Amino acid sequence: MSRVLITDATYTNIRDAVDRVFASFPLPVAGKQVLLKPNVLRRSEPEAGVTTHPALVRAVIAKLKVLGASRVLVGDNPGGGGHAGGNEAAFRATGLYEASGEHYTNLGASSVRVPTKNRLMPTIMISRAVLEADLLISLPKFKTHGLTGFSCAVKNSFGFLPGGQKGQAHVLAGTPYRFAELLVDIYAVRVPDLVIVDGVLAMQGNGPAAPDLYYLGKVVAGQDGVAVDRIVCHLMGILPDLARTVTYAAERGLGEGDLARIQVEGDLRPIAGFALPERFSAQDPAGLHARVGWDPRPPLPSFDAGKCNGCMTCVMECPAQALTCNGVPQVNAELCVSCFCCQELCLTGAVQLGSLDRHGRPTTTHTRVRQAP
Ligand code: SF4
Ligand code: SF4
Repeated sequence: MSRVLITDATYTNIRDAVDRVFASFPLPVAGKQVLLKPNVLRRSEPEAGVTTHPALVRAVIAKLKVLGASRVLVGDNPGGGGHAGGNEAAFRATGLYEASGEHYTNLGASSVRVPTKNRLMPTIMISRAVLEADLLISLPKFKTHGLTGFSCAVKNSFGFLPGGQKGQAHVLAGTPYRFAELLVDIYAVRVPDLVIVDGVLAMQGNGPAAPDLYYLGKVVAGQDGVAVDRIVCHLMGILPDLARTVTYAAERGLGEGDLARIQVEGDLRPIAGFALPERFSAQDPAGLHARVGWDPRPPLPSFDAGKCNGCMTCVMECPAQALTCNGVPQVNAELCVSCFCCQELCLTGAVQLGSLDRHGRPTTTHTRVRQAP
């Protein structure tokens, strides 16, 4: 039976939580090469809640040294980090470069082509260090995501892909369900040996780079990443049949997706008042379509003229080439695949999910629904 631990933590005492995790899930660390994979979405300060907090990375490195790891590496492939120096710049901005110290590695520096079971991407290039590690420890952030509902263990493995493949994956998938299935097929290439979720400062609302944070004060951990994701969904209040990464991963035999078959240590009560992306709210009409087997499009991004500085980053990085910019970016609804890379990469917080009303508040008027293939 899969087990998941939910334990209290703050960023000042997170070493105690990490000790409890390794006591609950002992790994044969001595003499092994271990890769830590935090979520380094983009350049962002730790307080923004967008990326895994450096305190967790620091605590896990310290624990692995005590346990006798022969080598510890810390790496990710951030969005927009494919250009020279982009990987290190993202790590520096998030505080993870300093936290990782000599253990930082640029995962994008060397990659290898591997097969997948996905019909859209039957082969992918993934970072060589992912395959070479004796042990892989995933350190995702506890976050919502407008495309997949939430981002945790399975979604964190998307960072195995260096360069422009992430954008290519979004375009090839085209719909939330197909993208969720592609994520699972990437996760399956190297299933992590342990998942430790940074749920101290969680993100709610329209993630993956939303300004709405929730101080949760938890670390969630387990050796079955699918079970961890199932528990995180439950805590957030996402209905099981809307969490396609969990249901598909369970169908593929990659982990446990049935709450009743997961042994949980800790407080399993759903988080009071936790805000979900609009398509994943129990009250949202688009969510109803998803519940009966449709593949609804999430809302389009919109752009706040008061915050946009016209840097063109989103226009240049949009994998679907759906953006043009004449002062403020404008989205072509026919081309946009709702990947929210533009929201991830905008450093001024100018990108929202859904359109803005005349008061500058997001609305849901762009929500589209279409049937799954
Ligand atoms: S929305 Fe953000 S990323 Fe796009 S041009 Fe404006 S400031 Fe730059
Ligand atoms: S406009 Fe934004 S959400 Fe749409 S495809 Fe481009 S980057 Fe993705």
